[in-house]
Amino acid sequence: MKVVDLRSDTVTKPTREMRQAMMDSVVGDDCHGEDSTVNELQDLAAQMMGKESALFVPSGTMSNNVAIMTHARHGDTAIVDAESHIYYYESAAISGLAGVMPIVVDHPTGCPDPEQITYYLQRNRNRFPKTSLLCLETTHNRRGGRPITLDRMKTVCQLAHQHQTSVHLDGARIFNAAEALGVSVKSITEHADSVSFCLSKGLSAPVGSILVGSNDFIQQAVQVRRRLGGGMRQSGVIAAAGLVALTKMVERLSEDHVHAQLIAKHLAEIEELELEPSHFPTNIVVFNSHKVGIAAPEFVEKAKKKGVKLSYFDTQQVRIVTNSDADQESIMHAIDILVRLINQTKNTSN
Ligand SMILES: *Cc1c(COP(=O)(O)O)cnc(C)c1O
Repeated sequence: MKVVDLRSDTVTKPTREMRQAMMDSVVGDDCHGEDSTVNELQDLAAQMMGKESALFVPSGTMSNNVAIMTHARHGDTAIVDAESHIYYYESAAISGLAGVMPIVVDHPTGCPDPEQITYYLQRNRNRFPKTSLLCLETTHNRRGGRPITLDRMKTVCQLAHQHQTSVHLDGARIFNAAEALGVSVKSITEHADSVSFCLSKGLSAPVGSILVGSNDFIQQAVQVRRRLGGGMRQSGVIAAAGLVALTKMVERLSEDHVHAQLIAKHLAEIEELELEPSHFPTNIVVFNSHKVGIAAPEFVEKAKKKGVKLSYFDTQQVRIVTNSDADQESIMHAIDILVRLINQTKNTSN
């Protein structure tokens, strides 16, 4: 049976070119700053993101938490979206490790509007905790892979800065955001103090994320990474794959977006789903399986039996993520199976 894995863009395997680069990589002890491949990756990443410095970290989760711990102290607060990765998927590290209290705001775009956060930014620090940090996420995973518009990004970043609050951008899929908005990555990062992005998602590297910011910020972040056990030795072996990811895999992300639109358009033809393809401008499509009378985990199980692997956000929302390991033929095959399965389910539940 043909299997198409659309659970996530993390399921991608390193390309042949990555494996070759890993094999040939020149390495050294990165804790002594002697791994030239890591240094090359960090330099390239900083340059692409338009920041002074970059730090290679084992995961996006560690990257976010190194950033939080560098920007904020125990007992401070950070503004986060209710559906953000930082709040939802990081085993409560923001409070459990960083000792920072999340202030949770909820906005359908995943980016708070100025009215929602002004109060928290400006309230009196004699009586209220300090709001050290505003955390943003683009593209926003649990909001259907939505990018934050440049206007909104600028407005909320400037507002935070007016109140001496730093901005950390979780840009795990920042290249998808740039592609969907038709803008440069630098225009997205311009107003954020730190940015984290993943090499191990749509870009297909096996391991690793990058944190960027000012020289000062990264100097402190090195120490925090060490504290979290993220200091690595001959990590040029994995950084080599990261270099291929940044130089060879960014341009093809548009393919994943085309594939996601194909899926969304076919699902939109099933009226009961009430799905609007324009809500899914990147590589993630979400639909509510309850609308055709089936719980999300149950639908995911059925699809898996037919060879299409999906994931779910909760009991109603099924998530589909296109990625470099699923070509157009696989996508058409998956669409065929999903549409048939949904129609069957719909008819039996009526
Ligand atoms: C995947 C992801 C991360 C980091 O995940 P790791 O699995 O720790 O690398 C962070 N933020 C968002 C929005 C993500 O999707």
